[in-house]
This record gives sequence, structure tokens and C-alpha cells, in this order.
Amino acid sequence: MIVNTKKMKTAKKYLKYGNALVRNIWKIGVLIGITIVIMFFSVWNAVDLKDVLNSSTRSYVTDITRQMTDTISDTIKYKKADMVNVADSIGQVGLLMDDLGETADFMGRKAKILEFDELILFNSKGDYVISSNTDGELDFDIDELFKIPGIQMSFQGITGTSFLGDNDLFYSTPVWENGKISKILVGVRSKENMQSIITAKSFNGKCFSCIVDGDSQMVLVPTDLKPFSQLEDIFEEGSDEIKADILEMKKNISCGKAGIFKFISINGEVNFLSYNPLNVNDWVLLTIVPANLISAGSDRYILRLFLLIGGVFAVFLVFWLVLYRIDRKNRKQLMKTAFEDPITGGMNNNAFRKKYRETVMEQSLSGYTVVLLDIKSFRLINEKFGLEVGNQMLHYIYEVIKRHLKKEKNEFATRTTDNFFLCIREQDPNVIQNRLNEIIDDIHTFRGTDCPQYRMIFKQGACLIEDQSIDMLALQDRAHMAIQKHGAAAEQNCVFYDESIVEKIRKEQELDGLFEESLKNHDFEVYLQPKVRAESGKLAGAEALIRWKHPRKGMIFPDEFIPLFEGNGKICRLDLYVFEEVCKMLNRRKAKGKPLYPVSVNLSRYHYYHEDFLEDFQAIYQQYDLPANIIEFELTESIFMEGDQITTIKESIDQMHQMGFLCSLDDFGAGFSSLGLLKEFDVDTLKLDRVFFLDMSSKKARDIVESLINLAKTLHVKTVAEGIEIPEQLEYLNSIHCDEIQGYIFSKPLPIPEFEEWEVQNEQRHSNVKRLYIN
Ligand code: C2E
Ligand code: CA
Ligand code: CA
Repeated sequence: MIVNTKKMKTAKKYLKYGNALVRNIWKIGVLIGITIVIMFFSVWNAVDLKDVLNSSTRSYVTDITRQMTDTISDTIKYKKADMVNVADSIGQVGLLMDDLGETADFMGRKAKILEFDELILFNSKGDYVISSNTDGELDFDIDELFKIPGIQMSFQGITGTSFLGDNDLFYSTPVWENGKISKILVGVRSKENMQSIITAKSFNGKCFSCIVDGDSQMVLVPTDLKPFSQLEDIFEEGSDEIKADILEMKKNISCGKAGIFKFISINGEVNFLSYNPLNVNDWVLLTIVPANLISAGSDRYILRLFLLIGGVFAVFLVFWLVLYRIDRKNRKQLMKTAFEDPITGGMNNNAFRKKYRETVMEQSLSGYTVVLLDIKSFRLINEKFGLEVGNQMLHYIYEVIKRHLKKEKNEFATRTTDNFFLCIREQDPNVIQNRLNEIIDDIHTFRGTDCPQYRMIFKQGACLIEDQSIDMLALQDRAHMAIQKHGAAAEQNCVFYDESIVEKIRKEQELDGLFEESLKNHDFEVYLQPKVRAESGKLAGAEALIRWKHPRKGMIFPDEFIPLFEGNGKICRLDLYVFEEVCKMLNRRKAKGKPLYPVSVNLSRYHYYHEDFLEDFQAIYQQYDLPANIIEFELTESIFMEGDQITTIKESIDQMHQMGFLCSLDDFGAGFSSLGLLKEFDVDTLKLDRVFFLDMSSKKARDIVESLINLAKTLHVKTVAEGIEIPEQLEYLNSIHCDEIQGYIFSKPLPIPEFEEWEVQNEQRHSNVKRLYIN
């Protein structure tokens, strides 16, 4: 198979991988979509949760401040009630009338019990009468005190609450005696008592409350005034929204209504301001609570949730990026292994096929041809120079080929093993041949390389692309087939694929399928062609030539099946079969007492792929009790030219002799006609090919044959002239003392019975001639 299957697998894997990636893109999309939806839902959920918590905070603040308002109102109410009770006691009992000292004691006790700092009694003119404080000194200015409206109102019989300065709260109530207001009882409480109420515990100390009056004057402030100073700022410079809220607040307060609104303080914090009229004078309890009072914990939770989701998303993103990068790297690597030839660095066969699909097939471009340049016996280069140099050579050849490709014609090339495939836009055989010659010549310049200057033979095959729908693999196979079918011709010129090759292959496949059965059924028959002694015309021996007489297909000649069985190795079994048939025939003749002549059998070069092959022949030979030197192996000249097998062949010839066989050099002259062979190899016979005798008109040709025969004689090698058909050839060969003649002039190859008849006739012919001569 031309194509490297491993690479094919990698390419398929890549394609599968690529498809998987495309298939998975929608999955990645869905995953990203889901993540976005989760993120969106989480944000929405968090915002909603915050809203819910804020509105909870609002109602919670409203509830708590209402409670605080009630507490403060109640405290003031109870204090007022206490004051009324004390005043009542003073008025009723008339303590003052009897003993001022006792009254002071009474007031001192009451002040202590009712948690007043001081209880002071003034007469109706506003003069100081007595105080629960034993030292009798007042901490405040009486004139100032009496200016307070609440105190003033007590002279009209109303119990009031007032403030003076930053420190104290004043409760005042009239003391009734005999239906008239005789005195005013003033109770002083430091503001700290009240401050402990407005410093609410409910909000974990995170809220700030104060009491203001209708003129926005502070009645009671907590110890830390800071938030309220900010509040004042907001009141002055706040946004329109805040201003509207404040306006509404003022309106509500004037109607005695409570309320709450949200505002952002200067430092950016979101707060609630709750206002609750205290029903004491025009006092209002203001409370500032951070809006995130309740949601502060959940904010942290939401933040953590966001961080978590963000983190997961980031990890997912990083993971995805890493995967993406690995994927890209793998794809690059895969692309490289799938489409790059590691030896030439150019496109491998997968890339070549892909390029063909993309340029020629998909665009239906015409005028292309696939050319195969197959280096003959590249194995030898590897053996001689080493693998590294071999690879360097392949790289160099690819570079040269690339230089000769025409980019403007979109031509490309690849290498597989020692084959170079070119897809060139050329269809004229002459132009293709010229371009290939240029490439091969350029390769042999070895320009720009330090590769050994080894002259290579390129087998050249081509297939014109007439139908763009045919796969490249098939085209490459066709170029290959052209080389195979044209044999040695492909080494000289580029051979082209045509339909007859397909027919030939089909026929070959058919014959191949028939081989086993035919061998079993003895459909193969040995024919014998006589070799006649040139000087006497007497039978000297015979050559065994195979014929296939198939019951259905009729007579099949060696040309049709020998190359086929040489290609698949079946020739070895066939040669053994012929050898055994010859042994049987000779054995029969021996048994019948007939004369035994040397018979030659053809020995295919493919036997040399098996060590000790001669032993198989010897084993058969020994079964038939035959004399030595009665069977000769014919080795074709080409086998002697295989440089790397010289020793093996020499040894095998020696072995043949040891086993009692002869050896001949067949088809001499059909190929290289190297005279050196005779000296080098210890053959017994030289078979001169019929090409020598086709044209005997030239003196030079005749001289060559004559000197060949003389040389053989000197070396004690017998000469056999093959394919002799006409008397002129025979005459000439006789004149130059060629030993034996084989050819149609005497007989074509004959079935054994006919050969034996011929033998008898030939014998008779000679005795007749002899008789005539004697007579
Ligand atoms: P080969 O060994 O050179 O055999 C001689 C061929 O020349 C034979 O062809 C024979 O019929 C033919 N021939 C003989 N005299 C003449 C003549 O006067 N004129 C012409 N034109 N031809 C002549 P064949 O029998 O068709 O065999 C062809 C080739 O097939 C053989 O060439 C040999 O290489 C191969 N072959 C035949 N039998 C066997 C076999 O049993 N084993 C092997 N390995 N090869 C065989
Ligand atoms: Ca032969
Ligand atoms: Ca021959």
C-alpha cells in the first residue's frame, strides 16, 4: 500500500477531533449561557434580597422608634404624674405652712424616690421658696427659668416639661391650695437620664436618636452629636429628593404624624431617618439608623456569594482558557503529525490528498497529471551510506522537485517512502517527459547539497487526471501500476496509465486465483525444446519450458503468468514443480534404457530471497536416482547484475556444482552483455540471446558474436545460441563453432511425448544422412 496507514489514522483522528470540536461548540455555548443566567439570577436575587431586607429594616426601625417614642412619652407622662402627686401632697397637707424644714425633707425623699435631681418650690410670684437640695443653692438662673413657656404655663395650671441649656429637663406643675395656685413645683432631671432612653439598645448602638422641638431646636441629643451635625448639613444642602422628604416630614410632624425616609449621608452611607412626635410639647423623636442595619450581615453573605460565583466563573474561565490553549497546541501538533512529512518537512501524503481535494476536486480544475518518481533500489543507498544520508537524499530530492513546481499553476508534491508524487498541471506527454528530465538532471547535479553523488534511476509513471472526482489514492495507485506493468521501460521514460492496464490486472488476478488448483491438478505441463549440436545436428539436450493448459482457459503462455508469479513469489513453487517433472521424465527414460540428455530448467531470481533454496531442489533430485550433471539451472543475465548479491550467487553456483547440477548464464546479450560475468562466475554454459542473431548483416555484430564464442571457448564455457530460426543464422553459427543451437529452426518447445517423437525422427534423419553419405 502506498499510503502510510499510521499517518492515515492520525489524520482520521484529527478529522474526528475537529468534528468533535465543532460538535461541542454548541455545548460550550450552552455552558456559557447557563453561567450567564446563573450570574444574572444571583444578582437579581441579591438585589431583591437587599430590597426585602431594606423594607424589613424600615418597618423594624418604625416599630422600634415607635416603642422608643412611647417609652419617652410614658416616662415624661409618669414624671409629670409624679410631679402632680408631689405637688398635690404639698398643697393638700399644707406642709409648707407648718414647717419648711419638714417640707424640704419631704421633697428630698420624693426627689430621691422619683429620681429627680432636685425639686424646687416657687411661690406664685416666682420667688424661690424651698429646694430638696439641702444646701439651697440653685445651679441655674431663676429669671431664665421663668422665661421658659412650659414653666409659664404651670402658672396657668398646666403641668409642663421644658428644657434649659444643654443639661437639664424641667418638669413644672402648679401647687393648688384652696382652689388657687399658690406655688409652682419644679422638678429638675439631668438630661442623662433621658439620654439613656434615646441611646437605643435595640439597634446594637448603631442608631442615633434625638429629640427636637417644632423649631428644630435640639431638646435632647445623645452624647455623640456627630451624625446629627451631618444631618444638619444634609438638611441644608441635600438633594431635591431629600428636601422633599424633609418638607413632608415637617408637614407630618405638624399634624402629629410619624414617618420614615431614606437618605444618603455625606460620607455616602445610606440611612433611615425616622421621626415620631412625642406628644409632649411639640417635641419629636428623630432616629437615624443605617439602612443596612439588618442587611449588613446579608451584604457580607451576598458579597461572599458574588465572590464565590465570580471565583467559580474565573476558575471556569481560566480552566477553559487552559483547555483552549492545550487544544490549540494539540491541534497544531496533530496538524504537524497529520500533514507534515518529517523527512522533507513538506506535505505528507495526507496533506497532498487534502490539497488535491481542495484545489482540483472542489474547483473541478482540469489539466492535471499525477506523476510518480520512484527511486530504483533506494534500499541500496540506505545500505551503502546509512539511513541518515538516505533521509538527507530524500530531503534534497524533494527540495529540487519543489523548485521545479509551478506555483502559478498550483502544483504540489509529496514523498512516501522512496516515492515522490507530483501533481502538475500538464497533460502533454512530451511536456511532462521534458519536465521530468529537467528534474532528474537537476537532481543529479547535486547542487547545494553534500549528499553523495550517487546516480539514481527513477522509475517514472503517470496518470492523467481526466475525471476530477477520482480520489488521489486511486490516481497514485494508477501511476504505480503503470510503472509495474511497463517494467524496465519506466526506468527510461515516463510510462502512462491506461485502461489496458486495468484489464491486464483483472486478468492477472483471475490467473492468480487459478494457480493453486492448477498446480494440484497438474494443469501446468512441461514442454521441452531441443538443443542441437551445431556441427552434427544431433540432439544435445533440451530446455524445459512451462505451459499452462487450463481446462477452461486453454493454453496460457509463460509471458502471461511468469511475471505475475514472480511478483507474488509463486514462481518458486512452479520452478520446483518443473524441476520435479523433469526429474520424473529423466527417471522414466533411465528406467526404459533410453539415452539421457542434459535438460536445463529456468531458475527464477526470486529463489535468492530464500536461503538454502537449493536444498529443496536437491531433495527432489535425490528421490529420482539420476546421474550428476544431467540437470542445468538457467540463471538470467540480469540476476548477475545485482551488485549486492554477487557473493551469494557465486556461492550458489559452487553449491550447484557440489550437488551435481550444471549452471548456465541465460539471455546473455538481452541486457548489459558484460563479458566480466564470464570471468567472475563459474558457469558451465553461455546462452546467447536471440537479439544477437536478429541482424547478422553487419560485420561488427558478427565479430562481437565470434569473439564472444571464442572467449567462452577459452574459458571452457559451452555456448548455446537461442532463438535460431533461419538457415543463415545456423550456417554462420556453425562457421564460428558455436556449440549448440536452440530455436524454431529445429523445433519449438514440445510436450514430452512429442519431444521424444522428435528425438526419434531427428535420430532417423541423421542415420539416413549417414547412410546416404556412406552409400
Ligand atoms: P527463456 O528462458 O529465454 O526461454 C526461451 C524462450 O524463447 C521460450 O519462450 C521459447 O519458446 C522461445 N524460443 C525458442 N526458440 C525460439 C525461436 O526460434 N524464435 C523465437 N522467437 N522464440 C524462440 P517461452 O517458452 O514462451 O518462455 C518465455 C520465458 O518464460 C522464458 O524465456 C523464461 O524466461 C520463462 N520461463 C518459461 N518457463 C519457465 C519456468 O519453468 N520457470 C521460469 N522461472 N521461467 C520460465
Ligand atoms: Ca531459459
Ligand atoms: Ca533464454
